[in-house]
Amino acid sequence: MLVLSGKPVFGGIARGKLFYFQQDENEVVKRLIKDTDRELGRYETAKKHALEELDELYSKAIEKVGENDASIFIIHKMLIEDSTFDSGVRDRIKNDRFSADYAVAQTSRDLSAAFSNLGSNYIKERAADLKDVCDRLIRHIQNKDEKRIELNEKVILCADDLMPSETMQIDLSNVLAIITRYGSSNSHTAILARTMNIPAIIGIGADRLSMLRDMEAIVDGYSGSVYIEPDEAALRRIEQLEENEAKKREMLKRFKGRKNVTLDGTEIEVFANIAGLNDLNYALENDAGGIGLFRSEFLYLGRIHMPDEDEQYFNYRQVLERMGGRKVIIRTMDAGADKNIKSFGLAKEENPALGVRSIRLCLLRPEMFKTQLRALFRASMYGDLSIMLPLVTATEEIHRAKVLIEEAKDQLRAKGVPFKENVPIGIMVETPAAVLMSEDFAREVDFFSIGTNDLEQYIMALDRQNLTLETYYEHKDHEPLLRAMRMVCDNAHRHGIPVGICGELGADLELTEEFLKMGIDEISVTPSQVLPLRQRIRTIKLDERKQLFDPAAVKTINSDTW
Ligand code: PEP
Ligand code: MG
Repeated sequence: MLVLSGKPVFGGIARGKLFYFQQDENEVVKRLIKDTDRELGRYETAKKHALEELDELYSKAIEKVGENDASIFIIHKMLIEDSTFDSGVRDRIKNDRFSADYAVAQTSRDLSAAFSNLGSNYIKERAADLKDVCDRLIRHIQNKDEKRIELNEKVILCADDLMPSETMQIDLSNVLAIITRYGSSNSHTAILARTMNIPAIIGIGADRLSMLRDMEAIVDGYSGSVYIEPDEAALRRIEQLEENEAKKREMLKRFKGRKNVTLDGTEIEVFANIAGLNDLNYALENDAGGIGLFRSEFLYLGRIHMPDEDEQYFNYRQVLERMGGRKVIIRTMDAGADKNIKSFGLAKEENPALGVRSIRLCLLRPEMFKTQLRALFRASMYGDLSIMLPLVTATEEIHRAKVLIEEAKDQLRAKGVPFKENVPIGIMVETPAAVLMSEDFAREVDFFSIGTNDLEQYIMALDRQNLTLETYYEHKDHEPLLRAMRMVCDNAHRHGIPVGICGELGADLELTEEFLKMGIDEISVTPSQVLPLRQRIRTIKLDERKQLFDPAAVKTINSDTW
C-alpha cells in the first residue's frame, strides 16, 4: 500500500480506479530545417488529417448540439484553408527554413495579433479559433493524439491540475473523487468539486500521479489521504470513518426546516452558491434559504459556442422556478483569470487576475453583456431575482453597467416582452477599491455581497491559485480582511442596504460569530455547508452585534434615481 497526502478541499470517501488525465501541451521549439520540400509535405499531410478530423467532429457535433453550434468546425476548416494563413506557413517553411510546427505557431501568433487589433468583436473572437485549429495542426505535425477526458466508468480523476473549462467538459457523474498535484483550495475547480459534493484533494506530492493510473485507491477527502492498493487495516479504518460520517450527515438532517437563529434570537439568511442547474438539487436537498451566488459564467465554460439569449433565459428561469419564490442572486458573467472561456478569444495577459475580466470584460463587450441582461430580466418574471455585478472597482463601472441595463430593458419593452422593473442590482465587494469606496457604492446599489476569495487575494497580495501560498491562508490571520469587512458592513448599513458573504470563508465556522457580530445579514456557502452553518449559528450567543440592515428602512434604487 502507498499513502499519498495532500490538502483536502472537500470531505467524503471514494473508492475506485485511478484515471490519470494528462493535459495536452504542444511544445514547439524553433528549429531550422534543410529539406524544405519534405517539411512542406509534412505540413500538407497534417493539414489533410486535421481537415478530416474536423469533418468528423462536425458530424458528431450536429448530433450532440445541433447545426448552429456545430458550425464552429466549419469555421475551423475555413481558417485552415484560408489563403493568407496557408501562404504564411509556406513562406516560413520555404524562405525562413522553419520546421512545419514552428511555422504554423508563428503564423498563428502573427495573425492572432492582427485579429486582436481589429475593431470587430467577432473577428477578435476568431483568434481563439485560430489558436485551436493551429494546436490541432501542430498536434498532427508532431504525430500526437488529442487528449480528451472521456470517462466511460466511475473513476477517481487525477491530474496535475484542472482548469474550470476542462472540468466542465467531464461527465462529473462518472467522477468519484478528484485529486490534483497542484491547484489551490480557492481555485474554481476546487469550488466546483465542493459544490458537486465530490471528495477532492489538491497538492498531492510530486510526479507520482501519472505512474498510478488504473490502480485501485481510496480517497479520504476528510484527512487528505489517498491509499493506493489499500491494505486490510486501511480498509477497516475507512469503513469506520464512513460510518461516522454517515451518522453526522444523519444528525445534520435534524436542522432541515429550522431557522438560522442565534441563542439570543438574531436571525440571518443562509443561502447556497451554485454554478449551474445540476447544483440546484444539492441546494434544495440541503434546505438553502435561497441562492446567494449563481456563478453564471459556468454556463459558458467548456462550450464551443456561447449560449444564446434563449438558452440563458431558460437556465435562469429554471433556477428561479425551482427555488419557488426564494431569493436568487445571479452574478453576471465573471469570466477571465482562471475562468478562460475559449470562445471569447481572450488575449494572453501577464497578470490575468488583474486583467480584462469580470465586469471589465462585460463593459468591453456590451452586446454580449446585454444578451445576458435581457435573459435575466425575462427570467425575472418567474421568481425573486437579484442581479449582481462582479469585481467592481469604480463608480463609473456601476454607472456604465446601469446604462446597459436600461438599454437591455428598453429592448425588451420595444418587443413587448414582460419583465420586472425593480430587480435589485447589487455588487460583489471583492477588491480593496470596492471596500474603500463602499460608502459611495452603497448609494448606488441595492446590496453588497463580499467575495472573500478575491478580496483576500487582493488585500493580502496572495495568488488564490498558488498552492505554495496555502499556508498563508491556513494560519488564519484574517484580520486585515475582517477589518475590511467591518468597514463594508458599517457603510452598507449606514445607507440602508444589506451585506452578504459569498466567498469560501463564509463556511469557516470559527469565524461565524465574528461575521454575525460585524452585522453580516446573509451568508452563502457550498450546498453541503448550509446545515453545518445553521447548526453553528444556533449555538452562538451574541452579546454585541453591530446595527443590522433594517428592511423597513430599505431605500429603493430604481431607474428614476440613476
Ligand atoms: C469570491 O471572489 O469570493 C467569489 C465568491 O467569486 P469567485 O470565487 O467566483 O471569484
Ligand atoms: Mg471573485
